[in-house]
Amino acid sequence: DSVFAHIVQAPEDPILGVTVAYNKDPSPIKLNLGVGAYRTEEGKPLVLNVVRKAEQILVNDRSRVKEYLPITGLGEFNKLSAKLIFGAESPAIRENRITTVQCLSGTGSLRVGGEFLARHYHQRTIYIPQPTWGNHIKVFQLAGLSVKYYRYYDPKTRGLDFQGMLEDLSSAPSGAIILLHACAHNPTGVDPTLEQWEQIRKLMRSKALLPFFDSAYQGFASGSLDGDAQPIRMFVSDGGECFAAQSYAKNMGLYGERVGALSIVCKSSDVASRVESQLKLVIRPMYSNPPVHGPSIVATVLKDRDLYNEWTLELKAMADRIISMRQQLFDALRARGTPGDWSHIIKQIGMFTFTGLNKEQVAFMTREYHIYMTSDGRISMAGLSSRTVPHLADAINAAVT
Ligand code: PMP
Repeated sequence: DSVFAHIVQAPEDPILGVTVAYNKDPSPIKLNLGVGAYRTEEGKPLVLNVVRKAEQILVNDRSRVKEYLPITGLGEFNKLSAKLIFGAESPAIRENRITTVQCLSGTGSLRVGGEFLARHYHQRTIYIPQPTWGNHIKVFQLAGLSVKYYRYYDPKTRGLDFQGMLEDLSSAPSGAIILLHACAHNPTGVDPTLEQWEQIRKLMRSKALLPFFDSAYQGFASGSLDGDAQPIRMFVSDGGECFAAQSYAKNMGLYGERVGALSIVCKSSDVASRVESQLKLVIRPMYSNPPVHGPSIVATVLKDRDLYNEWTLELKAMADRIISMRQQLFDALRARGTPGDWSHIIKQIGMFTFTGLNKEQVAFMTREYHIYMTSDGRISMAGLSSRTVPHLADAINAAVT
């Protein structure tokens, strides 16, 4: 008998498992709104033009070799990534008090940041929003932190539970780590306003809470890279410390290349350099050093003015298509006279709509309409097109009436 005979079958990942089920469905009308990956109007994955151009430049450069990167990744990529998220004029960059290390996309950046905190920070508790991206819980628990929640979403208004959030942050122990979605909160699509962010910042600084920003959608929410980075920049401009995990999966469409960065903003360059030396000790035994192709693409785009400008246009076009899908879905439900207030579809922002549909309604839509989505009622707007909106609207209409 196998020495592994006792191993039990693990459940599918709640998000990636949706695609597994979708792939098994032979129906021609099936629709995958589970995973957050951008699709064109034709329902196809998109490789950005600037990415194709950058790859061409890289391929043509015969001086490029396949040597290992340093443990901290491609230095040029790290510098450009910090500029992108904190702003070219950021005093923290000028004062050299940020350490940025290339990591395996957003997830890897969160994990490295979590492991660093578990080893070196005096508070081992991280507060995450209720609800949040499902992977946050396991990433931080396995990093060695203890995970607690703060109130975030109010199902009654399908908006922010701002009062609840402030109360829970107020009662967190001094120094606790607070995970914040920089923009386009996943799964709810609900973000604080800039005025609310300012109140959050004041409260957190007054209680010495440590901000850990997860920035998986910079530019994808509003279409503006600077606009979506505003909350992070507010926290950096007060001179305080913070963490930021960046992903290029969505905003540059580099999903499978696994390109991201972890930045830690410190009080002084001296602290930043010691922090970086410890980050290397976290990374080296985990995966030794990160891959070279993805960050080379990003660096090629970010450092060239023309490519950068073209990228911002392509990014804006993706954001705009998602916003137009929100409007079309909202209009289609109105046209059907679907009971209920669906204005949250156009109020929410980013890749996802948190529909408010319950588990039974989701199961009904999958069974009867071959529409696949996570059981919490989250749909990826980027997976929709003008052609498929009517089908989804029919399904939602049938599910709620
Ligand atoms: N954080 C959030 C909030 C996300 O939605 C995602 C992607 N779904 C990630 C992090 C990580 O994505 P990746 O590792 O592919 O960059």
